[in-house]
Amino acid sequence: MAKKSIASVDVSGKRVLVRVDFNVPIENGIIEDDRRIKAALPTIRSVIDRGGRAILCSHLGRPEGKGYEADSSLEPCAKRLGELLGKPVAFPSQNCIDDTAAAAVAAMKNGEVLLLENLRHHKGEKKGDAAFAGKLASYADVYVNDAFGTCHRPDASMVAVPKAVKGPKVMGFLVEKEIKYLSEALARPQAPFVVVLGGAKVSDKMAAIEHLLPKCSAVLVGGAMAYTFLKAMGRDVGNSRVEEDRLGDAKRTIELAARHKCDLHLPTDHVCSTQFAENAGDINVFENNIPDGFMGMDIGLKTQAKYAVVLNKAKTIVWNGPMGVFEWPAFAVGTKSVARAIAEATGRGATTIVGGGDSAAAVEQFGLAEKFSHVSTGGGASLEMLEGKRFESVDVLDEA
Ligand code: AMP
Repeated sequence: MAKKSIASVDVSGKRVLVRVDFNVPIENGIIEDDRRIKAALPTIRSVIDRGGRAILCSHLGRPEGKGYEADSSLEPCAKRLGELLGKPVAFPSQNCIDDTAAAAVAAMKNGEVLLLENLRHHKGEKKGDAAFAGKLASYADVYVNDAFGTCHRPDASMVAVPKAVKGPKVMGFLVEKEIKYLSEALARPQAPFVVVLGGAKVSDKMAAIEHLLPKCSAVLVGGAMAYTFLKAMGRDVGNSRVEEDRLGDAKRTIELAARHKCDLHLPTDHVCSTQFAENAGDINVFENNIPDGFMGMDIGLKTQAKYAVVLNKAKTIVWNGPMGVFEWPAFAVGTKSVARAIAEATGRGATTIVGGGDSAAAVEQFGLAEKFSHVSTGGGASLEMLEGKRFESVDVLDEA
């Protein structure tokens, strides 16, 4: 059942509590990447442009819930948001539920914006505590979930707060867009549907692979997780990163793919090095087997070409996880090549989605973000959607 959107709620004169995801990297008070703040702008603007009062709340980092900590304060986000909106954003208190915060909320005028301090300075946020949630809910005539990156977490502000709010509980534009792309692509993918999976660990992606295998025509595997599959097939993988305790799972997945007539492609050539280092001394390309002393760091040119042929025919593509150690230029070529092939598929009319986290960062780094149908802002949340999980934080919202 589709959920109600902020677009359909009259917010004029209302106190609108928006759960955003401003969990951005901050170093010495400087925001290093403000994409998550920018992603919340359409919802915030929609509230204030229609005469609502936007009360924003978020977590930042992983403080233990022992009260205010300057290191994990959201104050720099209030300043940055003010610059982006071109109007001041109030940041009234170092405690999101104290009397000062409550008084500032009560004194807000229509069209104003206020950011509360980090929710995770309170233990109640991670615990889903009802008393903590009740205080936050008391600020709200309307509740908006626009924190896609946190949708897979049952934290107080995600579940207990909307449950406690009496008025409308709706999706913000970011959550609406994320769910539209991720759930529609998975529920009704236009064939051929190709899934590209990479990254560090096969264990992180196993549930997603198993959920997607029956739906797609091909899975392209890269990154370190490929070596667990290759070892399970009896190949020599040298010193490549392998999860020994997942070899059985990998074998089972290979059999499952065959049963579902899904082509599970694994790399056939590998860019390898003798050390896990940016400027690794010895770099060599090996086909099929990797000798001892070398570890696979990226997919080779033949694999890139083979993957491009499969992506070239796809009508729906979902990508999660880099093909190699893309942070280091010597091993970024495979990830870039896959990103380009997917960007070209978008140009031909395919729906192309990149899951958040490292692959989204890679797409940004290559300047290709505009050439994807959708770049997700949530790493863990988008992966859980690929696993077919439901989010309680979305289930609790009003139906459209
Ligand atoms: P994930 O968060 O699971 O998507 O994994 C992303 C990380 O996997 C990135 O930091 C990559 O550097 C790393 N990675 C990708 N390929 C390899 C590889 N062949 N060996 C070691 N790490 C890798």
